[in-house]
Order: sequence, then structure tokens, then C-alpha cells
Amino acid sequence: MAVIPTIRLFDNDPYLTEVETSIASNDGEVVCLDETVFYAESGGQSGDTGVFLLGSGEILPVKETRYVPGRLRIAHILAHPVGANLTGQRVLARLDWDRRHRLMRMHSCLHLLCSLVEAPVTGCAIHPDHGRLDFDIEATIDRQAVSDGLNALIERDLPVELSYLPVRELRIDPALVRTVQVAPPETGGVVRIVRIGDVDRQPCGGTHVRSTGEIGPVAIASIEKKGRRNRRIKITFADHRAGPPLGHGKD
Ligand SMILES: [Zn+2]
Repeated sequence: MAVIPTIRLFDNDPYLTEVETSIASNDGEVVCLDETVFYAESGGQSGDTGVFLLGSGEILPVKETRYVPGRLRIAHILAHPVGANLTGQRVLARLDWDRRHRLMRMHSCLHLLCSLVEAPVTGCAIHPDHGRLDFDIEATIDRQAVSDGLNALIERDLPVELSYLPVRELRIDPALVRTVQVAPPETGGVVRIVRIGDVDRQPCGGTHVRSTGEIGPVAIASIEKKGRRNRRIKITFADHRAGPPLGHGKD
């Protein structure tokens, strides 16, 4: 039987916080939906958490989200397994928007960091309270210069834009691929490109803010030497702001 892919609403609208949809399948703690707003762990970005609200009034907390092997379907992992077969039931899937928005701010911030360090990226992790990139570089990194540069780019409030590029064009322009070891996410011969103003452009499947001002001030938590040619830069948010801007439900 052909696998029906989960429709990923976060690809083109990362500000969508909930969707009413149907349960495609469930087995114990694993639930797949027809369509979802929950980002599945990939590209270093943590998967989303949130809740499913069933028509019966029951609330099912979702503790993590990841791809089913093959990457066509998205598995929402429930905090507590469910014995009953829920296939076909309607559900309101609502993500933890506060947490997701922090992930979006941090992901966009790490793209800015890429633009400030002239070296290939060998590792990446994006969490709600911190993010880090590993660079293949021998030289010492000037902590103050990177911190000032990063906050200056954030203050410029640069637009973050999405576009799609045929894979063959990516091969012509390999300079686009900043992350070694990780193949760019590709669907049907097309890769998704994230451009931030005139400072960064790279293939990425992650969720981003609309413009860099939304990231807010950041600080460099540490720069670690993880081997002769590896420098790990860890970033945190410098402020404790009020809540995120309002996301929205599906129109
Ligand atoms: Zn990215």
C-alpha cells in the first residue's frame, strides 16, 4: 500500500499554531495526522510539543515530534500511550507556540551566525533556550566581534524569505551549501532556500521568523575548542521578553 505523506503546514506558514484535521493512524504513543503544524525534529531543530484535543473533550499531550523513517510521515509522540484505535477521528492539533517561537528565533539567529564565521558548519543544534554551531576552523574566534556582529544584524531587522530551487541548480552553486555532512532537505527534486536580507542564503527545511528584529538580543554563552579544527559557538537569548507575537489558526 502506498504511504500517504503527512501534509506539512509549517513549511510555508511557520506562524500557524493549530489545525483541525483527522487522525491518519495511531499505535500506542505514536499518532500520525493527515496534516500537521508540528515541526518534526530535523536539521538540528528540536521537534514541537503541544496537545491534541479530541471531539470527546479528551486532551492528549504531545511530548515530541519526529519523522517516520523515510521522512514522508510525521510521528507525534504522546506523553501517554492510547489503547483505542483513533483512526479517522477529528482532532485539533495545537502546538506549544511559546516554545516553537523561541526555536524559530534561535534558528534564524544561527543562520546569521553562519554569515559571520567564514568556515564550513559541521554540526548544529537548536533548542528553545540555546543553540550551537560547530565550525571547521583552526583560527581563534573573536568572541566580542561575533557577539557585536550578530546583534547588529538582528537590529537591522532584515527580512527572512523562502524560495525553492531545483536540485540541479544547487549543484551548480555548491557555495550555497554551508553545512557539510548534512545533505540539504530535498523534496521532489526541489530544495527550500532561506534567504536573510543580503547576508545569508542557504538550503534549510526549518521554521524561521519573518525578520531578524523578532530574534531580540542574543549573547554568546561559550566558544569551545572541540578538537584541532572544531570550534563550537553556543548562543543564548539575552533578554526575557514578554510572550511571542500571536500565531494564528488555519483560516
Ligand atoms: Zn537552517
